[in-house]
Amino acid sequence: MGWVDKKLDLNEALTFDDVVILPTYTEVLPHEPDVSSYLTKKIKLHTPFVSSPMESVTEYKLAIAIAQNGGFGFIHRNLTPTEQVQQVKQVKRYEAFLIENPTVVKARKKRKGSFYPTKVKEVLSLREKYGYSTFPVVDENNNLVGIVTDKDVRWRSLDELVEDIMVKDVVTIPYVKNDDKLREMAIEAMRDYRVGCVVVTRRRNSKKIKGLITETDIKKRDKFPYATRDKKGRLMVGAAIGVGEKELERVAKLYEAEVDAIVIDISHGHCKNLLDVLYQIKSKEYLTKVKETVKRVKKDYDIPVVGGNIVTKEAVEDLYSAEADALRVGIGPGSICTTRVVVGIGLPQISAILETAEVARDYGIPIIADGGIKYYGDIAKAIAAGASTVMMGRLFAGTQEAPGELVSLHGRLYKKYFGMASERALKNKAGGGRLRYLEFLDKPIDYLHVFPQGVEGYVDYAGSLSDVINQMREALKKAMAATNSRTIEEFHENAVLRKVSKSGAIEGHPSVTLEKEPINYRKT
Ligand code: IMP
Repeated sequence: MGWVDKKLDLNEALTFDDVVILPTYTEVLPHEPDVSSYLTKKIKLHTPFVSSPMESVTEYKLAIAIAQNGGFGFIHRNLTPTEQVQQVKQVKRYEAFLIENPTVVKARKKRKGSFYPTKVKEVLSLREKYGYSTFPVVDENNNLVGIVTDKDVRWRSLDELVEDIMVKDVVTIPYVKNDDKLREMAIEAMRDYRVGCVVVTRRRNSKKIKGLITETDIKKRDKFPYATRDKKGRLMVGAAIGVGEKELERVAKLYEAEVDAIVIDISHGHCKNLLDVLYQIKSKEYLTKVKETVKRVKKDYDIPVVGGNIVTKEAVEDLYSAEADALRVGIGPGSICTTRVVVGIGLPQISAILETAEVARDYGIPIIADGGIKYYGDIAKAIAAGASTVMMGRLFAGTQEAPGELVSLHGRLYKKYFGMASERALKNKAGGGRLRYLEFLDKPIDYLHVFPQGVEGYVDYAGSLSDVINQMREALKKAMAATNSRTIEEFHENAVLRKVSKSGAIEGHPSVTLEKEPINYRKT
């Protein structure tokens, strides 16, 4: 093989606009397809959409909304481990049917050897911190003595004492293991005593708290039957970690918070640093270490780990042998990404998915196609190419639930969206962005000399996440129906992509002046 043949691969690399899905004879109607698909080898989602672990995309509010809608969110890591864990806990608690070990208010607090009664203002600051407002009240021995809810603190002055305003006749039920039975007992008690919550005690007549069940949580659960839930009925959530010894401490804390999956979040995942982390998380020694660190040890403990980002077959092989539970595919397609132009590496996304899927399919590892989704039709193209789920940043960054304020510019509403390797994210003190791009791994941070591989900008305000997801789900179902596919597995088999010319891609867009923008299309 000559130098040129060795150096230059003439196979064209394609992306979303370069292909279309060919429609076939079908007997499937657009409302029929089931879009459920695997995020990792074991976690199945009702809706195959995943939100990027990015500072301007996934914090607890968006993670809650996406899980309620059947998808999955990964909390970003431009947060200290404690902050990130707090976010994970907020998701896990949000719809928990039984809130185990609820936050309590001590009726009296010890300061310098004496006890002082707690005041209403301290309850308000807990409410501010955690976003919920029902707190059991306990004495010095952690025995239940009362409860405060929103109703009790309303119209009270800040210096009133919790002891004076709390409800002392707390409705309690004893803990039973069977979930359905517990739920039934809770509903019965709420109905009979006309209250909005009950405290679950460890045993009958015990004053020790096991948990809390609120009417809101029971109702929320009924409202989202297809939500992504764990075995205990709580919403699922993932979190991003980096590489290096220190990050393993983050994993231990996340495990303790019962995170459901971890993504090792680095831009070029086919590297020694990533494999080291993966081996350590999966290795017995690491598991033992984590198990020792945390209190609640589960017998068959395993954290599903997503490895990435990758774009080649060789990387699939390596991450497979390190036992990754899913692969995050995409280098450079992101809407805020400049990696392909400032560094020169990557691969257009449809080719990246096709090539990695070819190997990953044989190993049974699901692919998360990450980045570059501009139109809803791109989601179907990514799955047709072999992805099991699709990760998005831009299309979620504009939603109401994404972090950040609404901005009004020239009469339109926008939200901020920036890359994890943008100057702004790289300079974040928590350092997640820098680690993702392996900047300053071994040396002190030089804030002046970061190397950005991403940009900072605005995206259109997109309204509620659930409206956006409904449109995306509809789009995917229609593409599946057009290829006679009832399931994602059938879609993987049936869908054929056809390369289109540049003018073919242009032809796909409307060519009139739009009178009104439809909710699911905006030319970018
Ligand atoms: P989008 O959906 O096209 O906006 O792409 C989101 C994806 O871009 C993320 O999931 C990351 O994989 C990737 N990404 C995030 N921040 C950066 C960055 O600053 N530079 C390059 N890629 C990024």
